[in-house]
Amino acid sequence: MTASTQSENSLATWERARQVVPRGVSSGHRVGWDQVFVKAAGAYVWDEQGNKYIDYINSWGPIILGHCDARVNEAVFAAASTCDLTGVGPQSGEYELAERITSLVPSADKVAFCTSGTDATMHAVHIARAATGRVKILKFHGSYHGWSDVLAVGSSRADLTETSPLATANSAGLHPGAVADVVVVEWNDFEGLRAAFDQHGSELAAAFSEGYVHSFGCVPAAPGFLELLRELCTKHGAALVFDEVKTGFRAALGGYQSIAGVLPDLTAFAKAMANGYSIAALAGSDDLMGHLGAYSKNEATIDGTYNGNPYSVAAANKTLEIMESDDVITHLYDLGARLRAGITDAIADAGVDACVSGIGSEWTVYFRKELPTNFRQAMESNTEQYAKYHSSLLSQGILEPAFATGDRRLNASTTHDDIDRTIDANRVALRAAML
Ligand code: PMP
Repeated sequence: MTASTQSENSLATWERARQVVPRGVSSGHRVGWDQVFVKAAGAYVWDEQGNKYIDYINSWGPIILGHCDARVNEAVFAAASTCDLTGVGPQSGEYELAERITSLVPSADKVAFCTSGTDATMHAVHIARAATGRVKILKFHGSYHGWSDVLAVGSSRADLTETSPLATANSAGLHPGAVADVVVVEWNDFEGLRAAFDQHGSELAAAFSEGYVHSFGCVPAAPGFLELLRELCTKHGAALVFDEVKTGFRAALGGYQSIAGVLPDLTAFAKAMANGYSIAALAGSDDLMGHLGAYSKNEATIDGTYNGNPYSVAAANKTLEIMESDDVITHLYDLGARLRAGITDAIADAGVDACVSGIGSEWTVYFRKELPTNFRQAMESNTEQYAKYHSSLLSQGILEPAFATGDRRLNASTTHDDIDRTIDANRVALRAAML
């Protein structure tokens, strides 16, 4: 099967979309493609021309069981035809989902639901500020936590140089005060982290960390780094917030925190928890979650019309139930380990300066000699080689992110045959990268 990358059909669809939707899409990550996808099932997606691709984007994380999973869809249809959104009192399945999450996630005493990762991280800022009476937030360079003003700082790729400032706005239109309120530290910089707490510790409401960074590929914390972060937050009275929007229920059912053995005070979850339905969760200690109150009293709050809606909640309950009963995580780890090992061999055979990192079902191929340990290093991945690699994979029916630091992931419907095909395709694509 050869995937066509250009066709009159999809160009016409893009053109039509651009007439009425700015950029033609509702999320910036969807720009930069010729393809328009019209069908998805299991491990695969199909474009308008009928070309089939093994999907390793998986909607940037949510699709974990497989596209259009019938079991999840049935649970959603059942919920939707029993009692839809009433807007009054606990919603059906909501506390069951919260019970499930508190039993899985070590740091979760209580859980509140919202609709996106951006929502969950924004609410974490509000709770941390309400609890500490402080304003500033610490985060790591390159880590993305959604679009609320104060978190949309410090991961801009524009004008990134060896010496460019760490705390710059990721978007036009942010309140300038947002940038001033954020302390940005290079990922894995022990000294920088200590210095930041020395200087700002008493002003920090919270420190945000991905635990295992997925914002610029897959870059783990150096041994001891998360432990140091935990220690400094405790010492200075700042809340430690783990952004597990990508790692949650994918790296482990207990979140990446259950692997790291470092427990945050608050955790944001989203993506993989409902196999594509839109839901997010903010989980945390009784103490911090106890700061949620009523907005009529000016207390911190999580309010939202669609929060904990029965459709997404049903999808999440079913997804997590299947993840647990079928030991999906072990299956994902087996597939991921095989794939990473195969790509590593293919890199050695091709003799290209590239390397693979990742955990469980996720990985990134960097076109540089050594694995990066921070954002600047990750951004040094050779973009020309990556473009050739990506385009070769696409033409072989393998769908991966179009940018060099993109993290990719497989879903549980991926077969061992798909993995073999992907490794073969990598052999071709890695050679193409060197032409
Ligand atoms: N945090 C992380 C680590 C993410 O990867 C994302 C989304 N890519 C977000 C937060 C924001 O989530 P959402 O797109 O659901 O708003």
